[in-house]
Amino acid sequence: MILREYNRTTGSSLEEDIKSNDDRLIDVVGWLNNFLSSGALSFLVNQSITVAAFSPDLASKASILSQFHCPLCYGEAPIVTINIRIPPISLQSSDSQTNEAFKRAIKYRLSHTHNYGNQRLCVHVVFVLRNKRHRMDVDNMAKGFLDTLQGVLYDNDNQIDHLNLHKLMWEGDEEHIRVNIRETHFNRHEDVLYHKFRHNWGDQEELRLEDFMDTKENSTSPLPPP
Ligand SMILES: [Zn+2]
Repeated sequence: MILREYNRTTGSSLEEDIKSNDDRLIDVVGWLNNFLSSGALSFLVNQSITVAAFSPDLASKASILSQFHCPLCYGEAPIVTINIRIPPISLQSSDSQTNEAFKRAIKYRLSHTHNYGNQRLCVHVVFVLRNKRHRMDVDNMAKGFLDTLQGVLYDNDNQIDHLNLHKLMWEGDEEHIRVNIRETHFNRHEDVLYHKFRHNWGDQEELRLEDFMDTKENSTSPLPPP
């Protein structure tokens, strides 16, 4: 539809099934950007998501949180939301025996849950923790947990394109994990016309790791050589 309108107003004749990496699209991108900057056209939409402004108790808060409907990802059904009554563990601070037991318990609990195979995924996890364990890093809990879900809910955790994490702490003893998982088409770029990354960086220089390697000569200076 965009290409039809582009051809009509500019007198061009781009085929409508043009490949999304065809450089002739650069002109169309410029043409579209003009509309966007003029305000005559906008592709921004308001998506409504349900969030709790107030909850009767912590269970409702955790429940609404874990049913968070990601407004950025879309994909095929099903959306799976599961509560797992097991205290989260941190990959770093647990011994291998604890890690293995955690893995076996999760496998046991999720043995009948839908398996997403090799699909791309959007995952939201809520770790419910006792206040006493406030030092647990949310990223370390996530690493161990998502690792454990491999071969259970999906093949490999590198299929996760969007990850949303919450650490919900409270004064009591009950600890558990809530996970919400769905397929995402985020990386198919069906919502993008021209599939190349063109960005005007202006004056911003590229940071090259080799300029920051800590060698004897420059270890005292945090700045790269000019
Ligand atoms: Zn998402």
